[in-house]
Amino acid sequence: MARVVSPVIWLQPDAPPKPATGAPCNGCGLCCLAEPCPIGVLVSRKRTGACRALVWSDEAHQYRCGMLVHPARYLGGPATHPDDALNRVLRRWARRLIAAGVGCDAQLEAVVALPAAPPAPSPSDAGEPSPASGTDAALPSPPSPPPSPSK
Ligand code: SF4
Ligand code: SF4
Repeated sequence: MARVVSPVIWLQPDAPPKPATGAPCNGCGLCCLAEPCPIGVLVSRKRTGACRALVWSDEAHQYRCGMLVHPARYLGGPATHPDDALNRVLRRWARRLIAAGVGCDAQLEAVVALPAAPPAPSPSDAGEPSPASGTDAALPSPPSPPPSPSK
């Protein structure tokens, strides 16, 4: 029986929508925000939640795997140039492990969560100015006498 999970994840508003399964990865980030892949477990030291190596690119408007950008940084290595020999080796290793370029294999569906509606006003609230509305408070006027019955 398929496991159904519905974590709430926060996506960049400019992130592209998830493509169909099997289509080229477009960096939507959905899978890596939902849970880390095996390398992500290693660098994030956790099995659930967003991967620590996931990075957002403002220029490309897509998420990138940090293990393909600057892997040594996420493995606690020394501060090195992203294109030095160590990072090139690590990048090749990571590319194989995450099967980069194979296509999207995430069986996930994103559903936009709408903000919760405010609670409905109770009958006692009707007609009363809200304290946050900025209106001046007024003292209640004395009750008017009951109307005389018509003939
Ligand atoms: S593998 Fe699929 S879900 Fe994951 S980032 Fe790429 S396109 Fe998005
Ligand atoms: S290691 Fe890369 S591919 Fe794997 S979950 Fe993290 S960001 Fe995604």
